[in-house]
Amino acid sequence: NNAAVTAEMVDDVARKHFPPCMRNLYDRLKRDSHLKHFGRLQLGLFLKGIGLPLDEAIVFWRKMYGSTMSDDKFNKEYKYNIRHGYGQEGKRTNYPPRSCQQILTQNQPGTQDTHGCPFRHFSPETLSSFLLSTYPTLDRSSNDLKEIMDSVKNSHYHLSCTRVFELTHGIKKGEGLGSGESVTHPNKWTERSRDLEK
Ligand code: SF4
Repeated sequence: NNAAVTAEMVDDVARKHFPPCMRNLYDRLKRDSHLKHFGRLQLGLFLKGIGLPLDEAIVFWRKMYGSTMSDDKFNKEYKYNIRHGYGQEGKRTNYPPRSCQQILTQNQPGTQDTHGCPFRHFSPETLSSFLLSTYPTLDRSSNDLKEIMDSVKNSHYHLSCTRVFELTHGIKKGEGLGSGESVTHPNKWTERSRDLEK
């Protein structure tokens, strides 16, 4: 398991170790100081899963909302939901981070939403420009991007995501997260990516 993450570390971990779905949510949150409900839920549970403790999660979200939100509004409307996600409110359920399968099939995002899986929920044009701008080591002119887009066309979203992992981590094709394991959970991408850095 990876070491705990503080609010201050999230940005660095995001740039190095977040899978596409979470990079998208995080970058949008950074840009807009805002995320809609399902986006907050998807990113929030993922962050819990990578080791961001509750008190650091509160610091993180407060910082991300910035001056667009008053302390009063944050404390009344948002803190509860963050605590809820950590099983500290309501029925005290400690919700697990969402798997790829859940992200791919549940709560289908509308056009204004940012949650979901980019491989499934972005248009091909949006997906390829998103991948190229998010992961600068991906080569537009090589066959790799075409291959990724072809898997998407055939609805092999896990395969596309696994290929992006390989290409961005200098890993041989077919090795995936190790021993050929494909990406089935965003938290596994991050865990493996942080392990590789050690
Ligand atoms: Fe995220 Fe899974 Fe989609 Fe990859 S395949 S972007 S980890 S939901």
